[in-house]
Amino acid sequence: GKYTREDILRMAEEEDVEFIRLQFTDMFGTMKNIAIPFGKLEKAMDNECVIDASSMESFYRNEEEDMYLHPDLDTFCILPWRPQQGKVARFICDIYKADGTPYKESPRYILQEAVKKAKEKGYTFKVNPECEFFLFHTDDNGAPTTLTHERAGFMDLSPVDLGENARRDIVLTLEEMGYEVASSHHEIAPGQHEIDFTMSDVMETADKLMTFKVAVRTIAKRHGLHATFMPKPKAEVNGSGMHINMALYQDGKNVFEDPADRLGLSREAYGFLAGIMEHIRGMTAVFNPLVNSYKRLVPGFEAPSDVTWSATQRTALVKVCRGMKEEKTIELRSPDPSANPYLVFALCLEAGIHGMEQGMEAPAELVKSIRELSEEEKKEQGIQALPENLSVALFEMEQDPWVEETLGASFLEHYKKGKRKEWKSYMKQVSEWELAQYLYQI
Ligand code: GLN
Ligand code: MG
Ligand code: MG
Ligand code: MG
Repeated sequence: GKYTREDILRMAEEEDVEFIRLQFTDMFGTMKNIAIPFGKLEKAMDNECVIDASSMESFYRNEEEDMYLHPDLDTFCILPWRPQQGKVARFICDIYKADGTPYKESPRYILQEAVKKAKEKGYTFKVNPECEFFLFHTDDNGAPTTLTHERAGFMDLSPVDLGENARRDIVLTLEEMGYEVASSHHEIAPGQHEIDFTMSDVMETADKLMTFKVAVRTIAKRHGLHATFMPKPKAEVNGSGMHINMALYQDGKNVFEDPADRLGLSREAYGFLAGIMEHIRGMTAVFNPLVNSYKRLVPGFEAPSDVTWSATQRTALVKVCRGMKEEKTIELRSPDPSANPYLVFALCLEAGIHGMEQGMEAPAELVKSIRELSEEEKKEQGIQALPENLSVALFEMEQDPWVEETLGASFLEHYKKGKRKEWKSYMKQVSEWELAQYLYQI
């Protein structure tokens, strides 16, 4: 590891740390935490801090038991947006049961297992997510709106970009926390921004993404703006995606590379992308977990709606990047930032390796925009659509037993239960659209 217990105690003392937050992520991707005073730091590092899991919505409830938080010492980090006197630090924790075994429904555990399995085969997985979000104004009561006064577009510069100061502050804060930010820019829709990391270790990146969202919200608030990772806050403009760029390494070499191939991609790369395409419909309820997620996956806004791959088309689900040696990556464009990154990465890795091991063949490449293909042409070419809503996605999840094998039966049962509840609640609503459509006419 990066830090020993002694390192942590010394750093905490030197930096005048007053509180330590013990953080973890629930199955639906929400970060939770308890705060402990400095005096309890050693107790925490002895893995003796307990949470009452029975009162946690997204935890396994019928077994009312205490869970133990095991801090990952390498995730120790001071939160720069908290007071500078009496500082606040955090650990990201693993969750263990009273009998000393890991809690298997913890998303971080699921990713750890996927990483371990890959490692046994000699593979390391690196990812680089591109996280998009909106910065909106708040109303007089401080409540979030979907209003933005700015009119900036893709990669515009200030003074049009009102969010620029907020974004600059966000990037500086992330760097202070040791993040390597590759780039940040204004996205296509007014008020929309994107921050890209660099290709790095998958577990580190999942942890970083969770903290990233908190940082973005907190810093935006300081600038009087509300940051949201909601996938499609406004029907008439682009939604926010979380494209995942992936590369697989063996003996320090990117296995996706093969200079002899037309696109410079290896057999492994094609197998990996075929595996993802094979399981994409079953994985979508995880990649696009909200009712709202499916309003982004529609044609016309640079988000994918069909299961395709391409080296050139932005409407494809999977885009391969021929880049230079180390930059040979596969980009999956369907996930959105409301998804749980631990689960998204675990599924991508497992599906990819599954495709490689089974020697799956990638279907024909999409060479023109999907919008130019008629429904007949799609059918002829065997192009399937992504699930059109959360209910269909949950159905598709059941049609692919591989998803259950990968995430665990008990985990999946609870996940689906929670998501079905969300769908049912949505289906009971009467929307503005329905009133506008039916109230007068019918
Ligand atoms: N916002 C688009 C999406 O929903 C992506 C746009 C882009 O990065 N070119 O995925
Ligand atoms: Mg991008
Ligand atoms: Mg983008
Ligand atoms: Mg992208």
